[in-house]
Amino acid sequence: MNREWLDQFEAISRDAAGAVARWKEKSGGKAVGWMLTDVPEELILAAGALPVAVLAEGVTLGVADKHFQGFACSYSRSVLELLASRRLSYLDGIVVPYICDTTRALDLVVKHHRFLPFTECLRIPKSTLGAGALSYYRQELLRLAASLAGLTGTYPDQARLREAIQLLNRVRDRLERIRRLLRDRPGLLSASEYFAALRASLALPKEEALELLERFLAEAEKRVPVPAAGPVVILAGKVAEPPALLEVIESAGLQVKEDLLVLGGRYVTGGVDAKLDPLEALARRQLQQWPMVGVWDHRPRRADFLLERIAAVGARGVIFLIQKFCEPWEIDYPGMKEALDQAGIPSLRLETEYQMGSLEPLRTRVEAFAEMLA
Ligand code: SF4
Repeated sequence: MNREWLDQFEAISRDAAGAVARWKEKSGGKAVGWMLTDVPEELILAAGALPVAVLAEGVTLGVADKHFQGFACSYSRSVLELLASRRLSYLDGIVVPYICDTTRALDLVVKHHRFLPFTECLRIPKSTLGAGALSYYRQELLRLAASLAGLTGTYPDQARLREAIQLLNRVRDRLERIRRLLRDRPGLLSASEYFAALRASLALPKEEALELLERFLAEAEKRVPVPAAGPVVILAGKVAEPPALLEVIESAGLQVKEDLLVLGGRYVTGGVDAKLDPLEALARRQLQQWPMVGVWDHRPRRADFLLERIAAVGARGVIFLIQKFCEPWEIDYPGMKEALDQAGIPSLRLETEYQMGSLEPLRTRVEAFAEMLA
């Protein structure tokens, strides 16, 4: 692990406000935050605004509990805390994707209190099947495009969307190359660096993110690999939070060769087809992305997909990172575990929270899992 890069990435992802202020000074534009996950940043960019992922790391909860139940996931409560305490006032608006009941409720709370001048939701399709899903989502993107134009005064037309798609595709391509280094050249970089690079790229204007990722790639590709011999594991779930958890996993001797996390491989892989009509291309990407909890698909795709990736990278086990009170992933987990048990693949479920005081109890469990796999 290269501490220098890790520190640099972490400092960037902690200072999204600084990056927004610098960008606003130069451009005079507006910044629009987006909650994880599946918000097409291309639309925000093409509307002339700066898309900023609200990562909500390291937030101490206080006022959020006045507005939201304590048994909501810590990501939603952390975002609410930032909004209610006006620590996101550097943003001009926020887009809340409906990926679960919690985000639906959060959207209503945020709109009711007008924490930011602009709050918009994104009703992502709950089914990937049938022609209706594509035309529905295209209409929903049109609605969001018009709403964003109302904020910025710039309509995300085809030309602007094509430009934004190309830029985002290039950023995703560099992230995917980093992800492939982790998988194909063991010992060259750590999972902590890969995830930190991803988080930093989400907090920066896309041109700056591209430049940063290219510098990192150029340096990482020249490294001499550190011999890696520990059991290979795959990470599954939504996010790797808190980031220090990755160090816990790697320092137990486990090699993270692949992740199927939503804020990970699912975000990074698969660009938008730049040859299609831009809105249709964005809609198609959404429908063709890796299967996600809460999206209806009559085939048992998530378990099949996980088993296929386990075989592809020669993983000995799977670590599920599931946020406490995250209903969709908690409901999904037993079925995934059953599929793994039937295939004889050991798995470990870690319940995480953004506000975890100590990682020591999890460290003990991760070390025991590593011993079992060795
Ligand atoms: S962590 Fe789970 S409950 Fe929370 S916003 Fe994400 S999907 Fe919804």
